[in-house]
Amino acid sequence: MRIVVLAGGIGGARFLRGLKSAVPDADITVIGNTGDDIHLFGLKVCPDLDTVMYTLGGGIHEEQGWGRADESFAVKEELAAYGVGPEWFGLGDRDFATHIVRTQMIAAGYPLSAVTEALCRRWEPGVRLLPMSDDRVETHVLIDAPDGTRKAVHFQEYWVRLRASVPARAIVPVGAEQAKPAPGVLEAIAAADVILFPPSNPVVSVGTILGVPGIREAVADAAAPVVGLSPIVGDAPVRGMADKVLAAVGVESTAAAVARHYGPDLLDGWLVDTVDAGAVAEVAAAGIRCRAVPLMMTDTEATAAMAAEALTLAEEVRA
Ligand code: GDP
Ligand code: CA
Repeated sequence: MRIVVLAGGIGGARFLRGLKSAVPDADITVIGNTGDDIHLFGLKVCPDLDTVMYTLGGGIHEEQGWGRADESFAVKEELAAYGVGPEWFGLGDRDFATHIVRTQMIAAGYPLSAVTEALCRRWEPGVRLLPMSDDRVETHVLIDAPDGTRKAVHFQEYWVRLRASVPARAIVPVGAEQAKPAPGVLEAIAAADVILFPPSNPVVSVGTILGVPGIREAVADAAAPVVGLSPIVGDAPVRGMADKVLAAVGVESTAAAVARHYGPDLLDGWLVDTVDAGAVAEVAAAGIRCRAVPLMMTDTEATAAMAAEALTLAEEVRA
């Protein structure tokens, strides 16, 4: 079975771990969000690709959900001693090595997709991990400036430094219009037996991937059923501040509103949590087959059960 998953960071990575456990023999291609990428200290950092790679490769800091286990911060402290920031982005010593290798390879002329493949040779994530694009796309967030105008900040500054504490007025994926899908992305979508949207952020993770010209169309036109899992449980994101960026695109933070936001052109099936069972009829009325099942990724077993439910729903819509 060929499965394609459009993944962000933590939500995507944890789901993928469950999916691999549910269907160990499946051929899984992950199309990763690179809109969160940022240049820091002269290095190219790809937070979502790395979260997927470390989580599936056994190097993740489990409790935190991002970054490396057994991390130390000597480089960051030394940089701070020179007055060199930003201090708000947590780059550990082990993590730095990944970004150095990546930046070095990119400077030598390798595209991000080739670099990601090379990094994955060490981590053996058990999936084919593709960046959505080899071209630079950077998500910016428009916020209110003190003088009443609007200013754009990098997504990481909004999310990590400001902790989404001010309203997001708009989400701007800078560079998306000119970006091309990375080699293999459209081919994987066209050849897929099932396409899954994990419980990743619908705006700044899955939405950014779909915003690369050609990807949304490929998913909509794919022969494979497309099934998503709600990142919103009980009218709130399970983790993080997805409600802030949903508000910026005029979408309520409910499982049903997110399904309608993707729409029946993209989605054939949608899973909501059992606490949102009341939303099933509304999603079905929008033309998307829907079921309520437990959607909390408390451990790999629970997550594998979610993945199995998604695949069952995909089989149903195919029939
Ligand atoms: P990020 O790039 O690290 O923000 O990660 P993603 O975009 O892949 O996923 C973030 C989303 O995962 C958030 O909107 C959370 O609501 C969602 N999420 C995290 N843990 C769970 C969980 O256990 N169950 C569900 N349904 N959603 C989750
Ligand atoms: Ca992310």
